[in-house]
Parts: sequence; structure tokens; C-alpha cells
Amino acid sequence: MNLILLGPPGAGKGTQAKRLVQRLGIPQISTGDMLRAAVKAGNALGQRVKGIMEGGELVPDDVVIALFKERASQPDAREGFILDGFPRTVGQAQELGKILEEEGGQIDHVLSIDVPVENLVTRLSGRRTCRACQAMCHVETSPPRRPGRCDQCDGELYQRADDNEETIRERLRVYKQQTEPLITYYGKEEILRRIPGSGSVEEIFKTISSVIGNGKAGG
Ligand code: ADP
Ligand code: ZN
Repeated sequence: MNLILLGPPGAGKGTQAKRLVQRLGIPQISTGDMLRAAVKAGNALGQRVKGIMEGGELVPDDVVIALFKERASQPDAREGFILDGFPRTVGQAQELGKILEEEGGQIDHVLSIDVPVENLVTRLSGRRTCRACQAMCHVETSPPRRPGRCDQCDGELYQRADDNEETIRERLRVYKQQTEPLITYYGKEEILRRIPGSGSVEEIFKTISSVIGNGKAGG
């Protein structure tokens, strides 16, 4: 099964993707995570994209398409994958369609997680991520038991470089302009499912599960 999680920054795509990995046994492919790993490693790719990401702009299509191809060709993705943060432009979606078509594959569902814009700034500006296990929490709505420490693994919590108010507003603007058109794009292909994203993680996961069926990979 191939799934796309669509939605603005802060909609909870990454959180739901991790739940889906457990349920379906197929990997999450997050271009954002891959790009952040490159920035952290300080390699050529990381140096190229660091400033773009810190400004809240999109990395060029050819760069993320190459990342996707490389990751999707690994053996653990043979039964499918959960795309989180890719595609993000109509160009990326078209290229993804071509790549899948060449292999006789398809997108089964596009899950668009809808959250009102006014909630997103609050969600993102209070968000903290664990350096060790990437678990996320929120300083106000789901504070960690020990300040600055991850509840899951006791790792150090940090604030993403692009989770400051100015960059958040730019990311939301870029989303509206470049990514939101994908709702229409996939709506036409009749694989778009709209998921209200304002409830609890559990409630949203239930909605997603019912939409995709109890679907085991390949089934
Ligand atoms: P969020 O959804 O919270 O904005 P991501 O981790 O998905 O966070 O992405 C962080 C940043 O990485 C984006 O703002 C962008 O600069 C870059 N990025 C991630 N995925 C893509 C993509 N598919 N196309 C272009 N840029 C991307
Ligand atoms: Zn952790």
C-alpha cells in the first residue's frame, strides 16, 4: 500500500505516519527528516539546503525527487510506503506519478489532514523534538514530565530551527501557494480523503484507519 499524508506544517503528518508504520509494517518516507539529517551531517546536500530550510522555503524538486527515489528503492519499501512531506508541489506529484507508473505501482490513498491555520502557529511554536528518538511534544499542550527531556527515552528536547514564528508564517504561506493545489490535483484522481485534524492523535488515527481499511501492506 502506498499512502501520501498531505497537510500544512504542524498538521500532525509525522505523528500519524509513525502510527501507520506500526500498523502497516511499511516505512515512513519523510523528505524533511532526510534533509535535516543531511544538514546535521554537514555534507554537500546539507550545505546546499540549510539556508533554504531555515528560511521556510522549498528545496528544489529535483533534490527531493532524488531523495525519494533512493529511499523508495530500498528493500523495506517493496510492499509500499507512507509519504510524509512529499510530494509538496504539483511538479513533484507529477514526477512521483511517473516513477510509480514505470514500476506498475500506484498511490492508494492521499490523506489530507485539515487543521485551521490559527491552530498551526501555536502548535509549531511550542513544539519540541527529541534529539535521540525524534519523538515530539508541546511545551503547553503535552509538556514533558521533566523539562527539556524526552518522555520516551530521556533524550534532549530541542526546538527545530524553522519552528520560530517568522519562519512558521513563511512555511504556511509556501504551503498555501505551492502545496495546497495538490488537494485539487489528487481530488481529480479520486484518491483524496479528507481527515479532520483537530482531535486527539488517537481520534485522528482511528479516522485514518477506517478510511484506509484495516489494510495490511499489499492487501
Ligand atoms: P513541516 O511539514 O513541519 O514543514 P518537514 O519536516 O516536512 O516539515 O519539512 C521541513 C522543510 O524541509 C521544509 O520547510 C522544506 O524546506 C524542506 N522540504 C521537506 N520536504 C520537501 C519537499 N518535498 N519539497 C521541497 N522541500 C521540502
Ligand atoms: Zn526521545
